[in-house]
Amino acid sequence: MSSLPTEQSEALYQRAKRVIPGGVSSPVRAFRAVGGTPRFIRSARGAYVTDVDGNEYVDLVGSWGPMLLGHAHPEVLDAVARAAQHGTSFGAPTEAEIDLAEMIIDRTPVEQVRLVNSGTEATMSALRLARGYTGRDKVIKFEGCYHGHVDSLLVAAGSGAATMGHPSSPGVTQATTADTIVCTYNDRESVRQAFRGHGNNIACIIAEAAAGNMGVVPPAEEDGENFTAFLSRIAHEHGALLITDEVMTGFRVSRSGQWGLDGQHGDLMTFGKVMGGGFPAAAFGGRSEIMQQLSPVGPVYQAGTLSGNPVATAAGSTTLRLATEEVYAQIDRSSELLRAEIGKALDAFQVPHVIQHTGNLFSGFFTPEGTTEVPDWKAAATQREDVFAAFFHGLLANGVYLGPSCYEAWFLSAAHDDAALDRIFDALPKAAAAARLAMTKA
Ligand SMILES: *Cc1c(COP(=O)(O)O)cnc(C)c1O
Repeated sequence: MSSLPTEQSEALYQRAKRVIPGGVSSPVRAFRAVGGTPRFIRSARGAYVTDVDGNEYVDLVGSWGPMLLGHAHPEVLDAVARAAQHGTSFGAPTEAEIDLAEMIIDRTPVEQVRLVNSGTEATMSALRLARGYTGRDKVIKFEGCYHGHVDSLLVAAGSGAATMGHPSSPGVTQATTADTIVCTYNDRESVRQAFRGHGNNIACIIAEAAAGNMGVVPPAEEDGENFTAFLSRIAHEHGALLITDEVMTGFRVSRSGQWGLDGQHGDLMTFGKVMGGGFPAAAFGGRSEIMQQLSPVGPVYQAGTLSGNPVATAAGSTTLRLATEEVYAQIDRSSELLRAEIGKALDAFQVPHVIQHTGNLFSGFFTPEGTTEVPDWKAAATQREDVFAAFFHGLLANGVYLGPSCYEAWFLSAAHDDAALDRIFDALPKAAAAARLAMTKA
């Protein structure tokens, strides 16, 4: 395996660690799960990122989802520069916010949206709105689904399905998570059990529209009914709401997100990532009747100094305008080719794995021999993290930057052309060989 120079990244990492905990502004960037020196990025263009040592990588992180069109898209840069020249924040309404809101509404079933700055804010606000609207306290979430670092959603499952969760981070109080019930994704009985126990006090279920934060785990079909459709039905039977979190899948897995693929949506939906075009912009939305409960028209408070920021909304609406059906068709095709090549390489080196996808969003699971599907967190957690780490470093050493954790999705963009894909295809057998070696060592 070739090894790339990392002196400059290493120096910045040491410097960063003195002033920033772990040297990073978000934990996964620190390479803790895979070891080694996190790469400090100097620039990015199209499908590639370049680190401070001058190493160029095909990027499969895409800022964890936003960069659907690739990095530094000229039209997005133009829109950003033009917007910035007219002032960067006013704290007053703008036409650009209406443009972005209308584009989101045009592509999804929501009737109204409120713009915020991050996916975390979107889910936090949607949760408050669901509680305010129903007058109830409890929330069902699923083990392995991530909705940002909202206190009440930083919850690990108790023992057994549908148990009250306990805080998964110090600093989150028992009281904050006391109203959070943790169920098992794709396990309908765990949800029924939660409603049997707490039915009259459940405000909402929150679920990723297709899980993408435990690796990619789509909602399963059972007796002709999709898991998300089941959630909607059982929530409504009990007077509760469903929130489908499309922060990752929205405007990525299709023009209309996961809803565009399976037709299922919550009473409220959350969006982020792609719709910000690489800037901090996110949104939550739903039926007008519910959204009208928000201040200033309704009593549920929600606000933000930089919400609807003119530079972010310019980047977002330009990205959505350029994200045409052709763009999605191209990324779908790249994803299909790449999934096939990954499977071929891992098979050739006898590395057991499962590859799952929803639209173009996919991930590989380094699960034990004999595993054929990963329906939930427990199955995802059976992965050999050491085998993934070897695979990851095999790719990295050969110029491919994958998310540094086996629980992350792989993100392609419209800028991943044949040359970029070929570079990944060349690296795959080397990474698979490294993964095989790690298997035989342990
Ligand atoms: C990324 C993500 C979030 C959090 O978004 P941030 O912008 O990082 O706060 C919420 N939900 C899902 C499904 C996500 O993938």
